[in-house]
Amino acid sequence: MTYIVNDNCIAFKHTDCVTVCPVDSFYEGESMLVNHPDECIDCGVCEPECPVDAIRPDSDPEAKDWVGFNRKYAKLWPIVIEQKPPLPGPDEMDGAVGKLETHFSEKPGGISEGQGRTMSLLVPISLITACTSACQSRIGAASATRQGI
Ligand code: SF4
Repeated sequence: MTYIVNDNCIAFKHTDCVTVCPVDSFYEGESMLVNHPDECIDCGVCEPECPVDAIRPDSDPEAKDWVGFNRKYAKLWPIVIEQKPPLPGPDEMDGAVGKLETHFSEKPGGISEGQGRTMSLLVPISLITACTSACQSRIGAASATRQGI
C-alpha cells in the first residue's frame, strides 16, 4: 500500500504532511504537492494532517488512479521538506470539481535556500524513537535506496 495526494491539494498546497513524513517523500509543484508512491513507507501519519483531506491510501478505490500521477510528478518536481505558507485558495475550492483541468500547473514549485536531496535523508529523531522496529527498517531501506547502497 502507499499514499497519494489527489487534486483537492490544488490551490491550497498545505505542507502539514511534509512536517510529519519520516522519509520525506513529498514533492512540490507550483499548484500542489505529490507523494512518491515508491518512497512512501505506508506509515499513514500524513493522512490526518491534511486540512483538505487530499491524502488518501491507494486502497481507496478513488485513489488508485492517482498513483501514476503522483509518481510522474514526483520525478519532475523538487522535494519539499519544510513547512511553507499555503496558497491562498478560497474555501469554495475545497472539494471543487474539475480543479485538475482549471487550476493545475505542471511547473515545479520552489526550492528553499539550503534545501536539497541530501537533506531528504534526514529523519527526525522523535519519529525514529516513535517507530516500531519494522518501521525503522523500512526507513533504513528507503534511505539506502536513495543513497544507492
Ligand atoms: S504515509 Fe508515511 S511515509 Fe508515506 S507519505 Fe505519508 S508520512 Fe510519508
